[in-house]
Amino acid sequence: MKKRLLTGLQSSGTLHIGNYFGALKPFLDIYEEYESFLMVADYHALTTLRDKNEMHENIINVVKDYLAVGIDPQKCVIFRQSDNQDHVELGWVFNCMVTVPFLMQAHAYKDKVAKGVEANAGLFTYPMLQAADIALYDTDVVPVGEDQRQHLEYSREAVGKFNRTFGEVLKEPKEMILSGVGVVSGTDGEKMSKSKGNIIPLFGTKEEITKAVMSIVTDSGKTMEDAIAESVATNQAVVRSIPFAKNLFSIHKLIKPDDEYNDLFDFYMANENNYKNLKMTLIEDLEAFIAPMREKREKITNEEVKEVLADGVRRAKAVSGETLGKVREAIGIAL
Ligand code: AMP
Repeated sequence: MKKRLLTGLQSSGTLHIGNYFGALKPFLDIYEEYESFLMVADYHALTTLRDKNEMHENIINVVKDYLAVGIDPQKCVIFRQSDNQDHVELGWVFNCMVTVPFLMQAHAYKDKVAKGVEANAGLFTYPMLQAADIALYDTDVVPVGEDQRQHLEYSREAVGKFNRTFGEVLKEPKEMILSGVGVVSGTDGEKMSKSKGNIIPLFGTKEEITKAVMSIVTDSGKTMEDAIAESVATNQAVVRSIPFAKNLFSIHKLIKPDDEYNDLFDFYMANENNYKNLKMTLIEDLEAFIAPMREKREKITNEEVKEVLADGVRRAKAVSGETLGKVREAIGIAL
């Protein structure tokens, strides 16, 4: 029996290769080892989103993104939170388990209050909707970033309170910290991030890729001779890392398989004074990496997304319905 894994998908607009190597790829690498549920968290998005068209587009886009990078809907369950009312129902039950002061300690809520934003009640109680998302599928693990451990604590607390009150009905989930590649740097050497305008778009056209690569800041740094002299002076081994054009190299090595690292290193060393050639090669390599995903994404129709979601919610309900049946029985509302 495979263990169960659930992850929530929220669209963050245009994806970049930092999102790919930091979040999508680590997920892609493991999802088949589990019975995986991928939930489009549209009702969570409603805690902040107020634009009908954006909501609609985000739902379609996030599914397209995941399908385009290679997630196979036959090998996992891709569904939408709002298509399965069991989530809202168990969320309500959990709301009745926890106290107001407990919810007031949640980071997302505290952050909003600290910023002077008047949080709506949905934002306040959303950790309980999240707990329901997880508990409905007897989820064993939830992949999260290091900064999101608290979310799982809230889910465990809700499940624990329910079980202590009504008997051992629900499974307590564990967090699973995904080890990505660490922080991916953008064209300026800072963390790649949409708001900084330093991204390489994951589904970018050749023109967009070219423009982004040409804008990569190439500090000349130290020469290899300087690096060797310095290592002799400080009695340290010269590591096989490039002492120049670091911003280029750090992006370039991401898209090359591990066994091609040495070739790439030698290629950079041979082109120490030819950044143009290095950039042209990076453009070609990025295009070879991105084009298949971009072309796949272009072919995915909105109809196909709807079919994937319709099939997904049917499979999701088969599992969540059973859990909710036990919950209703336990609290005494099943007559
Ligand atoms: P965001 O849209 O910034 O919330 O990012 C979505 C996901 O992509 C998160 O799991 C981030 O950890 C990951 N991510 C975003 N930017 C980077 C980056 N520059 N390097 C590595 N991972 C990133």
